[in-house]
Amino acid sequence: MSATLATLLSELEPTWSIEVIERLDAVARESSDAWNNAGTGHAALCELNYTPEGPDGSIDIAKAVRINEQFSLSTELWDHLIAQGRLPGDDFRTPVPHMTFVQGERDVDYLRRRHAALSAHPRFAAMEFSDDPATIAEWVPLIMAGREPGPVAATRAPDGFDVDFGALTRHLLDDLGDRGTTIRTGQEVRDLRRGPDGGWQLLIQDRSSGRSRVLNARFVFVGAGGGALRLLQRSGIREIRGYGGFPIAGQFLRTRNPSLVAEHRAKVYGKAAVGSPPMSVPHLDARAVGGGQALLFGPYAGWSMKFLKHGSWGDLLRTIRPDNVWPMVSVGLKNVGLLRYLITEVLAGRAQRMASLREYLPDAADADWELITAGQRVQVIKPVRGGGVLEFGTELVTAADGSIAGLLGASPGASTAASAMVDLLGRCFPARMAGWQPRLRAMMPSLTDEDADADAPSEDPDLVDQP
Ligand SMILES: Cc1cc2nc3c(=O)[nH]c(=O)nc-3n(C[C@H](O)[C@H](O)[C@H](O)COP(=O)(O)OP(=O)(O)OC[C@H]3O[C@@H](n4cnc5c(N)ncnc54)[C@H](O)[C@@H]3O)c2cc1C
Repeated sequence: MSATLATLLSELEPTWSIEVIERLDAVARESSDAWNNAGTGHAALCELNYTPEGPDGSIDIAKAVRINEQFSLSTELWDHLIAQGRLPGDDFRTPVPHMTFVQGERDVDYLRRRHAALSAHPRFAAMEFSDDPATIAEWVPLIMAGREPGPVAATRAPDGFDVDFGALTRHLLDDLGDRGTTIRTGQEVRDLRRGPDGGWQLLIQDRSSGRSRVLNARFVFVGAGGGALRLLQRSGIREIRGYGGFPIAGQFLRTRNPSLVAEHRAKVYGKAAVGSPPMSVPHLDARAVGGGQALLFGPYAGWSMKFLKHGSWGDLLRTIRPDNVWPMVSVGLKNVGLLRYLITEVLAGRAQRMASLREYLPDAADADWELITAGQRVQVIKPVRGGGVLEFGTELVTAADGSIAGLLGASPGASTAASAMVDLLGRCFPARMAGWQPRLRAMMPSLTDEDADADAPSEDPDLVDQP
């Protein structure tokens, strides 16, 4: 997110001085690292929760269209940067078909209706549907091998991507460094307060020497992932009052067995179990990372009080304040189903995890799969009248004067970084947007007025996080 914002700003205002502060010794070691997320270029080609079913059986595709448009903005930005020689090439994204796989009469019927609704839209015209086991076996042989007979169906969109967001982040920051942006690693923003000129004073500590310095900034983007809530609270801005965060650790099973990898060339999303939260949607993904290939299955949820994978066990406690206690308690009382899901997941052992995998890969052998720890999610608890609500999407919090903004949320979705950061520009620099529009459109030709409108809401409030 920060690399995307710095890239946009460096094109829009080349004379501005930009400094990126990273607490770890290298960039992209938290959620954006390739193995800390699933690498799905979310374009709503395979995720069922983007196409809710109405009580009359109709399928609402508005959210899917919006997410597809948002992903297009990211790909247009990347294409622009490649054409300009600012990205070294396309090694961070790999074309991989996106599929949805379901079982049972009811879900087969739903998938058929969903395909009919989506494929009528030009953005999804290439999507195929099949309920023929032989055709599905041609698409994804491992999923059909050893499967008991029964109703199954799948859709297949050939135009999906696996994205190594870690490699992308490193490329973006390498380019920014070459163009004059200062990138400092091993330095942690410990505190921030208003400066006398209406800007911000950031207290930054070098983590190896322990020495501190103060950085004055006219504008601050708190793109600190799980660390954003605490920093926004430290800033004292009114807009962060009442917000809380709830951490959920992620795990995946991974195999690098060449014979399995060679036979599964797709990202296959299924249906979340009834009552489980959207980020629990199981999926079996072909991954391409650092020149190697692997398969990933998950996610499984784990319990941790850390807000960052390399964070501290005190993270959760440090964000609890008088103004967010009631929103957090009320969310706990209202989301018993989520707590039940988490307890079940945390208590699940290797055998249960392999059993979940075998619903997708009936012949999966224990020895082929290792458990890896993914990134840390921090679900947003948002204050509302009478308590709080648990958000599965993202929340862009901006101060009224636009001098500081931060992104909260389990998964803003690295896929939608370009759209999220254009939205941020509109909110924090409304007076400049008209002048910036032509250059933004040169980078992202399909940018709409709505994307760049300062008054537009930051995100679709219903945008549901995808693992
Ligand atoms: C399990 C899982 C699966 C996911 N799958 C997908 C997917 O398939 N597709 C998709 O699009 N998205 C996915 N996401 C979401 C995606 O990973 C995130 O949206 C994205 O990486 C967030 O980027 P970011 O820059 O906001 O945060 P991060 O990549 O976490 O970066 C924040 C950085 O800030 C640094 N930092 C924190 N505090 C401080 C401080 N005080 N001072 C200095 N530096 C600090 C951190 O060290 C870190 O490097 C997934 C997330 C998870 C956890």
